[in-house]
Amino acid sequence: MTHHPHAPGAVLALDIGGTKLAAGVVQSDGTTLAFARCPTASQDGPRAVLKRLFDLGRAVLGTAGTAPGDLLGTGIGCGGPLDPVAGVLLAPPHLPGWRNVPVVELAREAYGLPAVLDNDGTAGAAGEWRFGAGRGTRHLVYLTVSTGIGGGMVLDGRTYRGAAGNGGEPGHITVRPDGRPCRSCGRAGCLEAYASGTSIAERADEAVAEARAGGVPTLLGDRDPLTAADVTAAAGAGDPVATAVWEETLDALSTGLISLVNVFEPELVVLGGGVTRAGEPLMGPLRREVAERAMGPAASAVRLTTASGGDQAGVLGAAAIAFERLAPDDRAR
Ligand SMILES: [Zn+2]
Repeated sequence: MTHHPHAPGAVLALDIGGTKLAAGVVQSDGTTLAFARCPTASQDGPRAVLKRLFDLGRAVLGTAGTAPGDLLGTGIGCGGPLDPVAGVLLAPPHLPGWRNVPVVELAREAYGLPAVLDNDGTAGAAGEWRFGAGRGTRHLVYLTVSTGIGGGMVLDGRTYRGAAGNGGEPGHITVRPDGRPCRSCGRAGCLEAYASGTSIAERADEAVAEARAGGVPTLLGDRDPLTAADVTAAAGAGDPVATAVWEETLDALSTGLISLVNVFEPELVVLGGGVTRAGEPLMGPLRREVAERAMGPAASAVRLTTASGGDQAGVLGAAAIAFERLAPDDRAR
């Protein structure tokens, strides 16, 4: 077994996603000593899922050759709403039936270590700021565009949480009053209801049905179910039906981004999540729209870039909030 005797200030980082659990051992410089994932299977209920998560944590500690006693503590990221002070999951929509689960207390019991819990979007922002694309910035806005849209922000060099601990949620900015229903929050016209991977696929299905009814040929529709990647590929090949869906996506995302840029005047916007794998067909138009439509000083101050966390983004975020909250003197900056 490989031992890492010089792992001072390492943390155990846990990420509770709707479809996957992830665990990692992360050092204070952002080096991941071990990383593993497994399915969430949230229908098994909190007791069984958290047992699986804590076992996954023990497995990565074994792989890293790190004893719990060598760790600063445990950081946990999860979709909200949650109470980061009490360490309790309130009623996350991606974990149906989970109500008032005292995750921090259970993690403390499992490992005998201090533990902290934060919204995974907030944690993701902290992770990109401390370890990733946002290193060295003071004002950062982070969006993750995948099944849903999450995110968070670091303002004046501090992770922003808001009054009740779930602030900085960019997915629920209204981009179309009276627009499509938002599955996560129940309102209408949220950014998430237009630009998430789920919404892109849904709107593509609707556009294909409409095209078929009108006898309009389209490259979309050969595959079932359609994905956001199918839409970008077909739009890139010049398909007009896919192009309309993609342009509506870009318009919603740039409308939301411009609001964020105007309100916070960040120096950096970091975009992560599966949909950003589209690359330049996404980032190019967004940069142009922000440059043209955001207010002058904000537009000239901001850069847009893609996240660096990749598959480990959730774990790096959970590690960042653990370092921030459990070792407040150990500030990278
Ligand atoms: Zn919403």
